[in-house]
Amino acid sequence: MRMVGLLGGLSWHSTIEYYRIINDEIAKRLGSKHSARIILYSFDFNEIHELQSKGDWHTIVDKFVHAGKVLEHAGAEAILICANTMHKVADEVQSKLRVKLLHICDATANAIKSKGLSKVGLLGTKTTMTDPFYKERLERHGIAVIVPSNNDIATVNSIIFDELVRGIISDTARSRVVQIINNLVEEDAEGIILGCTELPLLIQQKHVSVPLFNTLRLHAMSAVEFALA
Ligand code: GLU
Repeated sequence: MRMVGLLGGLSWHSTIEYYRIINDEIAKRLGSKHSARIILYSFDFNEIHELQSKGDWHTIVDKFVHAGKVLEHAGAEAILICANTMHKVADEVQSKLRVKLLHICDATANAIKSKGLSKVGLLGTKTTMTDPFYKERLERHGIAVIVPSNNDIATVNSIIFDELVRGIISDTARSRVVQIINNLVEEDAEGIILGCTELPLLIQQKHVSVPLFNTLRLHAMSAVEFALA
């Protein structure tokens, strides 16, 4: 089994889900006593979030490259950045590492294509929803992406940073996000990307009628495929 490296703590509430899903799937496929070979580098999210808020992406790249090299030296054969937003710097980080970064958008795009969908709604942080890096990567896979109104973008962003990354899950936040999903469906979204690794902690398939694409799970499964290939 190949060893995977996780760049996590972005936030830790979602990183533990990566750890759980990867181990669970390895046990399902190889037998219940098996578990994944994983190395985790976990950031202090507050530090990273302050850099994001200042727009200091250069320092973020430096920190991610440093952490990626730590994982490389420890024997990781592929690396996952356990957050959607941080994929803004994925190409730059990849260019400075030897090992492959498994990209969260590619795992997500493959799942959308395999369901035969061509237009989806994207939920995530304000950066993920408004910066071209995420949309463009999906568009390269032939998928059209729509995002909520500015008001709804602000609502989802504040639910993520004021509640979800702090481990707060509330029914109020859930109904607001479900309403925002319904708005996207009215604009012909055939499915919804939960493009923030904390969103699956709040919203699950049972809460909505359109297909949900849980980027955390899809990304974690790409790690399993890599480990067992
Ligand atoms: N985990 C998040 C994501 O998937 C949000 C936290 C961050 O800004 O990295 O985008």
